Amino acid sequence: MESAEIRRRWLSFFEERGHTVVPSASLIADDPTLLLIPAGMVPFKPYFLGEAAPPAPRVTSVQKCVRTPDIEEVGRTTRHGTFFQMCGNFSFGDYFKEGAITLAWELLTTPVSQGGYGLDPERLWITVYEDDDEAETIWRERVGVPAERIQRLGKKDNYWDMGVPGPCGPCSEINYDRGPDFGPEGGPAVNDERYVEIWNLVFMQYERGPGEGKEYPLLGELPSKNIDTGLGLERLAMILQGVRNMYETDTLRVLIDRAGELTGVRYGEDERGDIALRVIADHMRTAVMLIGDGVTPGNEGRGYVLRRIMRRAIRNLRILGATDPVAGELVEVVITTMGRQYPELITDRGRIRTVALAEEAAFLKTLRAGTNILDTAVSETREAGGRVLSGEKAFLLHDTWGFPIDLTLEMAAEQGLSVDEAGFRRLMAEQRERAKADARAKKTGHADMSAYRGIADVAGATEFTGYTHTEGEAT
Ligand code: ATP
Ligand code: MG
Ligand code: MG
Ligand code: MG
Repeated sequence: MESAEIRRRWLSFFEERGHTVVPSASLIADDPTLLLIPAGMVPFKPYFLGEAAPPAPRVTSVQKCVRTPDIEEVGRTTRHGTFFQMCGNFSFGDYFKEGAITLAWELLTTPVSQGGYGLDPERLWITVYEDDDEAETIWRERVGVPAERIQRLGKKDNYWDMGVPGPCGPCSEINYDRGPDFGPEGGPAVNDERYVEIWNLVFMQYERGPGEGKEYPLLGELPSKNIDTGLGLERLAMILQGVRNMYETDTLRVLIDRAGELTGVRYGEDERGDIALRVIADHMRTAVMLIGDGVTPGNEGRGYVLRRIMRRAIRNLRILGATDPVAGELVEVVITTMGRQYPELITDRGRIRTVALAEEAAFLKTLRAGTNILDTAVSETREAGGRVLSGEKAFLLHDTWGFPIDLTLEMAAEQGLSVDEAGFRRLMAEQRERAKADARAKKTGHADMSAYRGIADVAGATEFTGYTHTEGEAT
């Protein structure tokens, strides 16, 4: 089933059951606590909190989402993208646990010939929050899921919040067993790649205050009991299209193939190349979607998110062997594939291309200049009889030339040198401290940027320490 059809079925299933269809909001969150929208419920937050009246008691949407903290997972797991689409159905004080659970089960297990997604019920595993007897009873008695396919999990997995103060509540998730090819049995509690999470049903009932991770006070109950659900369109596409990886689904596979042609690397031949191709496909798509919603590359806020993501894609293209500017080609592919769902990409093609090409040109210039500095540093180190590039040099490359550390590591290694990474990280930490002190002095009142600051460092997924939690993003 094509992605476009999955989307169409979603919206019509819920529309037929009394939900008002709401178009996706822009990725630029209309919410001062978030830079970008990480989940389908964000545009509806005021309705959950009782701050505004909802347009209808039941709504449904397919929302564009960006989760920058997932950048470390991209290409390495089979199921994480920085951009993805979240299909959702929402109840504002209308149906609650039983309604959400029975609707979800019906849509997933109704045969394809009758408008559903036709999943085999025996492959579906359910998780519920550790003390949620009510949800478990509904799954067992109303739906008939056997007890051995229901697992209870703690806050980390089965208690949902936006990552910032706002509505929250326990949740119940539906996971699909992809079979023994994907690892040992035991259910989603032990193996999240085999039992891939597809749909989260959140019982939005409480309001949370500020805090780290899942350590926050509950401020009280919301004015009504609500439902917020989120199903990953790309994940369901992966299952329904019978592919191993969300990057092999219809809308992303074409990007991988084009990136393969542009670099001369064939997908499926070696794991490192495959990861890089998936990173390129993911990041180029995210970049185009961000530019489409009006973000322009810059050194702070959303512009910085876009810049890091685009540069990481371009760098991976170079590593795989592209020598000419190629971003324009990939932008075209994204516009063509995503333009079916988001026609504004097509009408805005010229502007999107211009922004992307300018950023690519600027980065290629940086890369050329930085490469000279790196080569000089490597020669000097060698002449002095050393085999380790100093932390200061790596820091200079990062700070002045925008060289991510993994690029320095990789390029130094090509010339037979290692890098004093500990020294580099010490200097980075010192700089972060200085920046924090500056920010305290300025008190700009903007959202905390710590979750974004480290993006440049994560590319190699070495010992990334840029953020320990994902403030400003959902988990
Ligand atoms: P996971 O545990 O796999 O990281 P999650 O628990 O963080 O997922 P939720 O916050 O519950 O995800 O979001 C609801 C749904 O959105 C998930 O069940 C999944 O189908 C989808 N989803 C979440 N993150 C991503 C992502 N990075 N890429 C693609 N789909 C995603
Ligand atoms: Mg999860
Ligand atoms: Mg989840
Ligand atoms: Mg996650």
